[in-house]
Amino acid sequence: MGSARSAENPLEREGQLPAFDRIRPEHVVPAVRSRLRELGHELERVEAAVDVSWSGLVEPLEGLGDRLHSVWGTVGHLMGVKNSDALRAAHDEVQAEVVSFSLRVAQSRVIYDGLRALREGAEWKALGSAKQRIIENLLRDARHAGVGLDGAERDRFNEIQHELAELGTRFSNHVLDATKAFALDLSQAGDVEGLPASLLELASQTANEALSNPLEGRSEASPDRVSEPGDARSGPWRITLDTPSFVPFMQHSTRRDLREKLYRAHVTRASTGELDNAPIIERLLLLRRELAQLLEYDEFASLSLASKMAPDVAAVESLLEELRTASFEAARRDLSELQEFAQAEGLAGSLALWDIAFWSERLREERFAYSEESLRPYFPLPVVLAGLFALSRRLFGVEITAADGEVPVWHEDVRFFRVKDEDGRPRAAFFLDPYSRPAEKRGGAWMDECVGRSTLLAAEPVLNSDLNSDGVRLPVAYLVCNQAPPVDGKPSLMTLAEVTTLFHEFGHGLQHMLTRVDLGLASGIRNIEWDAVELPSQFMENWLYHRSTLQSVSSHVDTGEPLPDSTFDKVEAARSYRAGSDMLRQLYFSFTDLELHGRYQPGGGEDAFRVQRRIAERTTVLPPLDDDRFLCSFSHIFAGGYAAGYYSYKWAEVLSADAFAAFEEAGLDDEAALVETGRRFRDTVLALGGSQAPMEVFRAFRGREPSTEALLRHSGLL
Ligand code: ZN
Repeated sequence: MGSARSAENPLEREGQLPAFDRIRPEHVVPAVRSRLRELGHELERVEAAVDVSWSGLVEPLEGLGDRLHSVWGTVGHLMGVKNSDALRAAHDEVQAEVVSFSLRVAQSRVIYDGLRALREGAEWKALGSAKQRIIENLLRDARHAGVGLDGAERDRFNEIQHELAELGTRFSNHVLDATKAFALDLSQAGDVEGLPASLLELASQTANEALSNPLEGRSEASPDRVSEPGDARSGPWRITLDTPSFVPFMQHSTRRDLREKLYRAHVTRASTGELDNAPIIERLLLLRRELAQLLEYDEFASLSLASKMAPDVAAVESLLEELRTASFEAARRDLSELQEFAQAEGLAGSLALWDIAFWSERLREERFAYSEESLRPYFPLPVVLAGLFALSRRLFGVEITAADGEVPVWHEDVRFFRVKDEDGRPRAAFFLDPYSRPAEKRGGAWMDECVGRSTLLAAEPVLNSDLNSDGVRLPVAYLVCNQAPPVDGKPSLMTLAEVTTLFHEFGHGLQHMLTRVDLGLASGIRNIEWDAVELPSQFMENWLYHRSTLQSVSSHVDTGEPLPDSTFDKVEAARSYRAGSDMLRQLYFSFTDLELHGRYQPGGGEDAFRVQRRIAERTTVLPPLDDDRFLCSFSHIFAGGYAAGYYSYKWAEVLSADAFAAFEEAGLDDEAALVETGRRFRDTVLALGGSQAPMEVFRAFRGREPSTEALLRHSGLL
């Protein structure tokens, strides 16, 4: 297949893990173009043959996707963990070509008609439910990509898609520009009272950078800005609407007037002048509705839900309403408790919106008396990993062993591990890239596929010897975190939040790695609905609120002592602190999103902000300001993938909490029951991937449909 020339490009190497030690940015453009050429010919062959069978249609699609992923997926991975100007330029040069190719596959009428014929034909019944589900979902995705439209409707559909993409980009650029355009410049010691040292550092650095760059030095909020650079102790300081600046300022500044100024700026971002997102919101909602109607759905929310686990809008609303009823009174109590506390501490009058974060933090400090920072010495990374692997052995019967140096990695801190069954048979492998590297690595944490489980693709050249087993290609995952790197010769010491993140990503990894599905298009996390995919990840987080598990992943870096019981008690108590308020806030966003993409008629009598205020009456205990325009910066639903899908956070949390409750019911300290329940979780949720509908998978594990009881109980809302 490969010519002598392409064999020299390490990015085009097939059948093995990526050659991270040799891939360079200059390999990207030639590798992607040559792969796209090959795949284009392959697609033409499939379309010309019109072989209406599983092996004639679906298998070639799996092969196409996999061969594209082995090049483009590797490039995407490197964009996240080893970014550089050269890599970005190479990526941007070929991105549009990759998108066009993917659209060509998605909109292939020949393949679509072939799949439909397969569905109507004699072979259908014999395919079995997993293959049927794959085909049904391929047909659905093709329909949603507009494959069934002809002539003027097809043109209109493509026109809308292009305008939507452009509007989404403009929306997020406006939010970015509006965020940048605001600054609160402070120069007096009294202006920064209460701020933690880390925020003063950041604010001083931001001020100094602005002073050295006159174009960025413009400040609308504080025209009397000073003009000499300084340090964190003496100022000047610049506070911005960026989260790392905005949030700690609202939590810690004792200056109520400045908090108000910042709060008002935050909730009116991108709502005036050239950066006004209000017209974009109306246009987006109108076009999404039209798009849905071209595809024969009543409104966009129904189109969005057609590819999710939730059956319909009514089912989502009924779940959200159940949670709202449970959290509303608790949120009201949170507010009155906070009001009393603040008054006792000297606040005159009622709490305003810009007081909530500040007084919540004061009350938290008084009640729980521990800080995230103080827990770090108890969680050295090697101890946490050993504890996590021991838990995986007990629950799921897998052995995880370090295999550093056996395969190429992209950075010296990256680790490689192998996963084996109890009988020693290889099952999977994963890379772990734990530390923050701001110069080249994207923030946040994620799990991604390096290689997926598949029998079809096991026929490819042997994958690093023992990553092929009994005729199956075994899965390999990337686990990427951004925790504090080791300093002063000590291992990386983690906050509880960092431990939680590692458990979360490991949960995604388990679903990718422990799958038993051999069909590549439904193994691991493939073919799983968006609102169900966070089940195993959030499930794993629950273990950190189990005393002996948390203690088993802790060992003080100097003394070797596990986390003290008294500290665990505080951590556990803090879990439900203001849980009603937090839940209500997520429900406010979820209901607003659904209403705007559902019942709302763009261009009718009511505008989107009126809808927001109407929803707020039932979902907030302190009403938003009259000129609140938070929708203008709600990028999740207007510029991200969460349109009519914001509810997914809560939906998956219900599933994961209820799954964990099965372990609680069996007895968290009853070893035999734990092992039995763990194996059942492994053989259903972790094994079945996207081969069955997520509700069937859940029922296979739980024996019934999900209930909100566990989530409410864990949040202290029962
Ligand atoms: Zn996740």
